[in-house]
Amino acid sequence: NTVSPLPSETRIITVSNQKGGVGKTTTTVNLSAALARRGANVLVIDLDPQGNASTALGVNHRPEVTSVYDVLLGDAELSDALQISSDHENLACIPSTIHLAGAEIELVSLVAREQRLRTAVDTFLKESDRKYHYVFIDCPPSLGLLTVNAFVAAQEVLIPIQCEYYALEGLSQLLGNIQLIQKHLNPTLRVSTILLTMFDARTNLAHEVAREVRDHFPGEVLRAVIPRSVRISEAPSYGQTVHEYDGGSIGAIAYLEAAAEIAERWAKLESLESAEAHSG
Ligand code: ADP
Ligand code: MG
Repeated sequence: NTVSPLPSETRIITVSNQKGGVGKTTTTVNLSAALARRGANVLVIDLDPQGNASTALGVNHRPEVTSVYDVLLGDAELSDALQISSDHENLACIPSTIHLAGAEIELVSLVAREQRLRTAVDTFLKESDRKYHYVFIDCPPSLGLLTVNAFVAAQEVLIPIQCEYYALEGLSQLLGNIQLIQKHLNPTLRVSTILLTMFDARTNLAHEVAREVRDHFPGEVLRAVIPRSVRISEAPSYGQTVHEYDGGSIGAIAYLEAAAEIAERWAKLESLESAEAHSG
């Protein structure tokens, strides 16, 4: 494993798609674990009441644990909720608990309800002794206040797209919501990355969907594609990422490739920007 270039500033990436079951959580945990293995310090914020990311990262998310729920309601700092994942020492997680299911409604009456996660993350990153290279936020399958909080806290959106029927359905709604967030709450948010997931190379459909998505988003879609793989779907039931569960599997390798691409693209952008700054 080669070490990827590390970003000079923390990249905060929201993994979002209002469709359920497209690979948001799987992508969040396995990309994060891949980047941690390549030398990055990574924080995963589990913003889905289901807590699947917390499970896959092997952190305690029983109801009594301090979680992202307490952070959003202002009863705890992010650092109070932080746990180190069993997957890798470089990989930390803010768990979600079942309490988060009520947060969509409880948040409505609070001040600065859209900015709560952002404020907590900004404070945490400023005060932390450890320099984090990546923060990934795993979103629930809806466009409610939790997802809005994720969009406001992040600089980038990563959209996983399942190579299946109706892959592009709902995408214009998601992009429309991101535009609204850009206009009113977070002007610097951008869709930086699209990842094709659950790709089954034996079906024509998967190839067609992949081609269509690449035609629509030539700059955003990663070259790496995540194959449909039993090893990927088995890992979470052992409280593991695919890298820990079966590091040599095609699924693990695909996520390592996607991670390398995400790191290298950014490094290229950063070097372009610094070259421009120097040339005046
Ligand atoms: P989401 O977070 O978008 O709801 P998940 O990441 O939980 O989606 O994935 C939905 C289901 O599909 C889970 O059971 C997961 O294990 C499975 N899955 C995700 N990616 C793959 C893959 N590449 N191959 C096989 N199964 C996958
Ligand atoms: Mg999920």
